[in-house]
Amino acid sequence: MAGQVHVVDHPLVQHKLSLMRMRNTSTSAFRNLLGELSMLMAYEVTRDMRTHPVSIETPMARMEAPILDGKKIVLISIMRAGTGILDGMLRLIPSARVGHVGLYRDPRTLEAVEYYFKVPKEMVGRDAIVVDPMLATGNSAVAAVDRVRDTHPRSIKFVCLLTCPEGLANLHAHHPDVPVYTAAIDSHLNEHGYIVPGLGDAGDRLFGTK
Ligand code: URA
Repeated sequence: MAGQVHVVDHPLVQHKLSLMRMRNTSTSAFRNLLGELSMLMAYEVTRDMRTHPVSIETPMARMEAPILDGKKIVLISIMRAGTGILDGMLRLIPSARVGHVGLYRDPRTLEAVEYYFKVPKEMVGRDAIVVDPMLATGNSAVAAVDRVRDTHPRSIKFVCLLTCPEGLANLHAHHPDVPVYTAAIDSHLNEHGYIVPGLGDAGDRLFGTK
């Protein structure tokens, strides 16, 4: 299980990711594509969810039908760009609980600095999915997973759109049991902590702040 990485190579995912990468893609198109891609990522990350049979009645007959097991999933968004993934995933898992971790990167040290943390009261027994479009240096991901782990969920997974070898190595050095779901593993990080070729600043492109 240590260091698991799932690259979602479905053609629809890859096509939408390419559109998001293009520098001329508008803010509204970027936002829509992120929402659509996040639904597809949600489909993959929940593939191993457990179910149990319950007896139900259809208009035709009684049957044993599978229902999801256990407590509701909790989606934990790393602000601010995580919001884009969160919205898409909630469309597929509307009853999920939601948590937020507020982290910014110190532009000088690239270290993660926390300014907000709020998750559902009862985390024990829940499956947590931490989301951020970019797993770059991995510092924010490590800090977020550290905090989520302290709340004792049953499991933790990490979903991003893009990552790079440096980010994966950092996250897995600190949290080898947290599987990563990504649409691509890019070449490298540049000296400012941006993924190359990447897609630029996900938050700025999502919110049109640049
Ligand atoms: N955050 C981003 O938004 N983009 C990167 O390339 C790296 C971190």
